[in-house]
Amino acid sequence: MTSSSSSFVERLVAELGSDVVTFGSDLGTWRVRDWSGTPGAESIALIRPRSTLEVSRALAFCHANQQAVVTHGGLTGLAGGANLSGGEVTLSLEQMSAIKEVDTVSGTITLQAGAVLQRVQEAADAAGMMFPLDLGARGSCTISGNLATNAGGNRVIKYDGMAREHVLGLEAVLADGTVVSDLHKMIKNNSGYDLKSLLIGSEGMLGVITRAVMRVAPKPLGVSTAWCGLPNLATVTRLLQHARARMSVGIRSDVAELLRLHAREHEDRARAARLHACVLRAAGKHGFQRRKTSRRVRGHAWRDA
Ligand SMILES: Cc1cc2nc3c(=O)[nH]c(=O)nc-3n(C[C@H](O)[C@H](O)[C@H](O)COP(=O)(O)OP(=O)(O)OC[C@H]3O[C@@H](n4cnc5c(N)ncnc54)[C@H](O)[C@@H]3O)c2cc1C
Repeated sequence: MTSSSSSFVERLVAELGSDVVTFGSDLGTWRVRDWSGTPGAESIALIRPRSTLEVSRALAFCHANQQAVVTHGGLTGLAGGANLSGGEVTLSLEQMSAIKEVDTVSGTITLQAGAVLQRVQEAADAAGMMFPLDLGARGSCTISGNLATNAGGNRVIKYDGMAREHVLGLEAVLADGTVVSDLHKMIKNNSGYDLKSLLIGSEGMLGVITRAVMRVAPKPLGVSTAWCGLPNLATVTRLLQHARARMSVGIRSDVAELLRLHAREHEDRARAARLHACVLRAAGKHGFQRRKTSRRVRGHAWRDA
């Protein structure tokens, strides 16, 4: 650490307190790199605010001192966005992970953005709801990282969208410490600029996301799954169209994960033909309607209805 950065860190501690700022040997094994495998330098200090106000004070102080800040979520990012190039301060929301409420009437969950995705899913589940966003890094990644990267995951088709589509309200702190807050629960809302959409996917370049109101769906009462082997990709898309059209009556057709299994070159044509598979998952009270739908989707080669 240079003498100028060392004096900055001393002033940072004086400004925010030693329970919020960690530096030097106290940083211990604080992680410096994300999952991307790209290089990352060590930070000169780590700021762990406990509230939006503290985030604001931290950013205002760094801004006034022309100090670069990199925000850390769960460090599962695969693009190197949380990695440092040297001389930056790290800001982590790990002390801002509270889940304030699950509102089953409006179908929303209100939380601090440092909450780990899996905890958010569990909180929704405990309230009889279902948090639609899901990805393999769920046990470590945070909602703040999910929103900053506009994460997708494995239910994008099923629940109509990337992380952005599940956000109703957002609070963030801009680089100079200004708090921009639009924490509301309304789906029907056409007032003013949609600042949240600008912040979502911005990888921390426009501000620090601090709180969010996100949508939760009713938890399915039952789930039925059909594994369909199909002769070619064109048939897969026809099956999906059919399922969407026919299964929306009586059950939710929130269906459809397509597995395109690649045939290796040396495999024969007949085997390759069987490798298009589609998992249809019907969530609802009745699963597939036995007599009509399941008979059609069960066969090895599905044909037009
Ligand atoms: C096993 C595995 C599976 C994955 N699957 C998927 C997948 O299916 N779909 C997908 O999209 N990604 C996937 N990822 C990538 C990664 O998990 C996501 O990008 C995740 O959203 C990152 O969240 P994080 O909390 O770990 O963020 P980090 O890695 O810590 O940060 C990611 C970016 O967000 C910024 N950031 C973090 N917090 C804030 C904040 N509060 N305000 C502003 N900016 C902030 C950081 O500066 C950085 O630019 C996967 C990763 C792994 C390891």
